[in-house]
Amino acid sequence: MNTTLTVAAVVVSVAALIVSWVYGARSAAASQRSADASETSSVHAKASAESAAKVAQVELDRDHEFYRPGDPDATFVIERNPRTGEENLFFTFVPKHSYRILGDAVQGNSRSTLSMNDMTYVAGKPVRVFVDVLRPHRDTSSVEELKLRFYPPDPVDKDMDQWTCRCGRPTNSSEAAHWTWTVPVTTPKRVPPPILAAMQNEKDRLGYNTF
Ligand SMILES: [Zn+2]
Repeated sequence: MNTTLTVAAVVVSVAALIVSWVYGARSAAASQRSADASETSSVHAKASAESAAKVAQVELDRDHEFYRPGDPDATFVIERNPRTGEENLFFTFVPKHSYRILGDAVQGNSRSTLSMNDMTYVAGKPVRVFVDVLRPHRDTSSVEELKLRFYPPDPVDKDMDQWTCRCGRPTNSSEAAHWTWTVPVTTPKRVPPPILAAMQNEKDRLGYNTF
């Protein structure tokens, strides 16, 4: 009897052991699977965070390009002061967005602040920058190039459409430029009055002056 009971007890314990081993093995496998799954999901989360960051960066770069002032599609014009007879050289362009604009005139190793009407410029309205006095002092400008610094409008700028570029470059006009234009200065050809042009044409045609 005792022996039967003992055998029965051993059988039960063995069965319990087997059950617990199988269950334990299953549970270990399950927890391994769950660990794998969470590792996979953290890899996915990291990858998706990275790709979200990339997308965000692409968007910021696209904004930066969108707001870029474009190529210096600009002209130099000579304006004659009818009172003094002086000729002044101006640089003009039409900005496609509203900006704060500051600039320097470069001549050899020296830079001087450009004289501009204002610091804030509205999209679509011509900007006029005084470059140099020409005649009677000189025929062409001694200023070699203009360096213009463009910034988004400052929140304090009233009457400006407010926008900003969040690409990380400076947006405060006391800092380095957000965008820069380097514009070589060219003096436009002077158009002679019609009578002088006619005289020059005649001279060119005949090889001598008939006047
Ligand atoms: Zn930007």
